[in-house]
Amino acid sequence: MSQNKAEKTKRVYIQFAMGLECNPLVAALKATKTDFHWVGAFPFEFYTSQLKNLEILIGLAGMDPVHQVDSIGSVPASVLASFAIREFRPDLVLNAGTCGGFLSSEHRIGEVLLGSQYVAFHGRRIDLPRMREYGIGKYVVASSANLSKHCALRQGIVSTSDALDFSLEDKVYMAENQGTLKEMEAAAIGWVCQFYKAPFLPIKTVTDFVDHGAATAEQFMTNYAVSVENLKTEMLKILNYLGNNPNDPIWNTPV
Ligand code: SAH
Repeated sequence: MSQNKAEKTKRVYIQFAMGLECNPLVAALKATKTDFHWVGAFPFEFYTSQLKNLEILIGLAGMDPVHQVDSIGSVPASVLASFAIREFRPDLVLNAGTCGGFLSSEHRIGEVLLGSQYVAFHGRRIDLPRMREYGIGKYVVASSANLSKHCALRQGIVSTSDALDFSLEDKVYMAENQGTLKEMEAAAIGWVCQFYKAPFLPIKTVTDFVDHGAATAEQFMTNYAVSVENLKTEMLKILNYLGNNPNDPIWNTPV
């Protein structure tokens, strides 16, 4: 029996950490800024849009009120995800943003990659029985094999800490995680998604190489513009694919 249109509507929640990453997609989707009373005093911003059969909510961490910078990192990411998922009840959660890649994985600057297998922490180092594994986390990532093929995007394991730099300890833990995409939010959102049983997929564009001599901050600033433009372009392709494929396994990832 064919489903009617209303039944096939899917809800997608997309979370961003930085305004410059989020704005191009908001403009491309002609998304409307929407205020929700449940945001309270948090600086989170929301935008709503519709694409094909997708109802889309975009959440942005917003400006830190004291330091006037984007609220990047795991703490705002998990609080925002928790609010948004509780209220919006999405069928799929996407975390779009930038990351550090690795020359050793043959990443390219501006390349957009999909998360695969799990997201983990490399910055929560707790060398105690069972706490070690708890710290690393490993939260399931949605099945993105078809999406990867259709959009010709490579996959990688996303690994999170609250630092932009890459310490020797980070290196050890990231090798253990088999992480190849280093950033500051995804595992925190993955942790939240497990409790709501929401399939979760990080989508990251490479702004800098972690295994490269130049300072990360310097590389980041040089490559940011091209990376976020590519992120917007690929996000639109991904959303179109999702809108056209309501039966793709990604929607039914066991969480
Ligand atoms: N230099 C930037 C600071 C943001 S970098 C600025 O002046 O605005 C940190 C943000 O980009 C985080 O949201 C993180 O998820 C992502 N990121 C990009 N490259 C990263 C890397 N090499 N390590 C950690 N996070 C990275």
